[in-house]
Amino acid sequence: MNILVINCGSSSLKFQLINSESEQCIAKGLCERIGIEGSRITYTPAGGEKEQTVTAMPDHTEAIRLVLEALTNEKTGVVKSLEEIGAVGHRVVHGGEKFAESVIIDDQVLAAIEACNELAPLHNPANLIGIDACRKLMPGTPMVAVFDTAFHQTMPEEAYMYGLPVEYYEKYKIRRYGFHGTSHSYVSRRAAEVLRVPYEALKTIVCHLGNGASVSAVKNGRCVDTSMGLTPLEGLIMGTRCGDIDPAIMEFLAHKENKSIDEIMNILNKKSGVLGLSNYLSSDFRDLEDGYHKGDAYAICAMKTFAYRVAKYIGAYAAAMNGVDLICFTAGVGENSPLVRTLVCEYLGYLGVAVDQEANGKRGEDIVISTPDSRTKVMVVPTNEELAIARETVRLV
Ligand code: AMP
Repeated sequence: MNILVINCGSSSLKFQLINSESEQCIAKGLCERIGIEGSRITYTPAGGEKEQTVTAMPDHTEAIRLVLEALTNEKTGVVKSLEEIGAVGHRVVHGGEKFAESVIIDDQVLAAIEACNELAPLHNPANLIGIDACRKLMPGTPMVAVFDTAFHQTMPEEAYMYGLPVEYYEKYKIRRYGFHGTSHSYVSRRAAEVLRVPYEALKTIVCHLGNGASVSAVKNGRCVDTSMGLTPLEGLIMGTRCGDIDPAIMEFLAHKENKSIDEIMNILNKKSGVLGLSNYLSSDFRDLEDGYHKGDAYAICAMKTFAYRVAKYIGAYAAAMNGVDLICFTAGVGENSPLVRTLVCEYLGYLGVAVDQEANGKRGEDIVISTPDSRTKVMVVPTNEELAIARETVRLV
């Protein structure tokens, strides 16, 4: 069966068509600047040329219509008709406490997702628009929602409650939810598979280090803690997000700089992280690594502070699980930066971690990067959220 995987943002939409038997991506692409002047669609069939077309996309329905047209195009398409698309899997960012698993989408589910909108005001409404547009254009095709938060719903109370008056949990459901769940689930399972160890027998820490970054603790196949919180702002230092800070800084800064809550939130989300720490050099680790090697003091500080925070979370989660067997690195930085992995692992001597630098230099494969006698194993496992969404979709339909 061919599964169309849709990841819909407010002005962009990523898609992949995946064959569920071969688990290969048959075509993929991206619609950008939806509803904005200069919108364009990029489309790449597997083994074919990437093509980019600048064309008007006043809304998401038009974007999805163009995606379906590209997939069925006589010359460059990969399927003859929409009937060859068996189901659609939608990434949905926030499922609140309602969704601990993926679900088949119907009107009731849509209403329940909408009820989570205020927990993720930047993401969920866009996800819903994408679902709505797909339902209009493919009315008979089953659709599945796969939530970023679902995998973390197994966390125990002591991991998800904040030290706030409990009435705010009871009234507004303010608690830790965690994100990147599809990736944490995929990577922790895949690592067990590669090691040929039962998933349920492992204590694994997954470090998803991308532009957004989070760590999770997976004990016996269940997530027991994760670093992102009510929103994806908490936890690690990220590309542009601050991660954990003293909450009193917000008031202090607001007074000093005469800024509103919205302006402060914008700084914490868009101007902080390694971008802010590097004195606005870059949020991209390729640039920061360049700076690090050239001796740029800001870049060095950004890289070291980033790695230190990751190492602190690993320590915390080793404590939370009363031990750790395996540490996995994944996502853009985790998969591609031997330097970041080295900086993090330098803190992990107490866990008996020893890194094999030759393996650490390799790229693009599931690989153990610790030495054979390393007490805790360390791996790089490339994440594949689209494949994980396609698998969930097939499982449900
Ligand atoms: P993601 O959010 O998982 O797509 O990760 C994107 C980030 O990965 C980029 O912003 C870069 O910081 C980082 N990245 C990608 N390629 C490399 C590389 N070769 N070396 C270091 N960092 C990289």
